[in-house]
Amino acid sequence: MSSKKHVLIIGAGLSGLSVAIQLIRKGANVTVVDNLENHSSRVAAAMINPLVFRRMTKGWRVDEFIPALKHFYQSIEAETGAKFFSFIPIRRLFSSEHEAELWKKKQNDDRFTTYMEPTTPEDQNYDKAINLFGSGRLKNTYFVDAKVFLASCKKIVKEKGQLIQAAFVYSELNETSYQGIDYTDILFCEGYLGINNPWFSYLPLDPTKGEVLTIRSEKLPEDESLNRKCFNLPLGNKLFKVGSTIDWGNPTTHATKEGREEILKKLSLLIDEKVEVVDQQAGVRPGSKDRRPFIGTHPKHSNYHIFNGLGSKGFMLAPLLSEEFAGYLIDGEEVHPETALNRF
Ligand SMILES: Cc1cc2nc3c(=O)[nH]c(=O)nc-3n(C[C@H](O)[C@H](O)[C@H](O)COP(=O)(O)OP(=O)(O)OC[C@H]3O[C@@H](n4cnc5c(N)ncnc54)[C@H](O)[C@@H]3O)c2cc1C
Repeated sequence: MSSKKHVLIIGAGLSGLSVAIQLIRKGANVTVVDNLENHSSRVAAAMINPLVFRRMTKGWRVDEFIPALKHFYQSIEAETGAKFFSFIPIRRLFSSEHEAELWKKKQNDDRFTTYMEPTTPEDQNYDKAINLFGSGRLKNTYFVDAKVFLASCKKIVKEKGQLIQAAFVYSELNETSYQGIDYTDILFCEGYLGINNPWFSYLPLDPTKGEVLTIRSEKLPEDESLNRKCFNLPLGNKLFKVGSTIDWGNPTTHATKEGREEILKKLSLLIDEKVEVVDQQAGVRPGSKDRRPFIGTHPKHSNYHIFNGLGSKGFMLAPLLSEEFAGYLIDGEEVHPETALNRF
């Protein structure tokens, strides 16, 4: 039997913490180091939407991701007593006749009935927002309160492993020894800051800035999330998160006037109201050029691994992919071929 693994994980965002939990569950010892910058997970709306509206298709591997994420988030809730995972109804306001037709064609197709409600006359005539071509309601859509989720994971890591609040300094890593402690494996989960990683910068990580607003609205419904050009997420007390911008190749983390104007313009296509902006945040999604994550081991350094590139749907992908990574590292299983590093 192999000796117990002690994995040093760099990054305590969604990626690093999800993997840490899965490794702990497989009996590994983990130490997570994080500099508290957190440029994506903290800002994310963290909504889980299984459909890609542009082509009205299912997202990549959603039939596998949805059951895995329900199990993962609910198991952490049960372990910590925290509440951060909820169902949120999403209503798509169709953006064209063509889109409405596509929905109607697919709503009774067995491959889509898990995610689409058949449209009703009420959906067609929905009047709580500007409705040009009718609307459709999704099924299996969720929301993760990212702050509470991250705090819950950190609680588990502190109890069952170690969490160090500090910057990880690459030059202090000597083989698998860091600051006087020997580890069996080093795992990089740095989000977009992975562009600075001396071993994995050969991977085409694509930092994609995103901005979100928190607004107060008298008109938006508080019992569902509306989607067309932008999304809104009801937070209670007439507050809503609205977003988001997509700025490929931009690794800056400050909120901008342009970002705010862009979101408000998109929102004006959904409701006719001058809303109050209460807050604005910016983060950088760790995208990848081929829109698939990077999961695996460095070709020359067999104890250096990466779990990154979750892009704009991390909260949907992380639960299953982190489980697959733990199976890879501890039990020698294969990672999913579309996430494997040998594609580069
Ligand atoms: C505006 C916006 C909206 C989004 N909305 C959604 C959504 O609705 N649904 C969804 O599923 N996803 C959404 N996302 C995407 C989601 O946020 C990401 O997929 C996910 O959070 C990526 O997590 P990560 O852990 O890889 O990166 P990060 O959250 O950036 O975490 C990386 C961590 O590593 C740390 N780190 C890096 N380098 C070092 C170092 N040298 N030393 C110490 N620590 C280090 C950082 O401080 C950070 O804490 C959104 C993103 C943005 C920006």
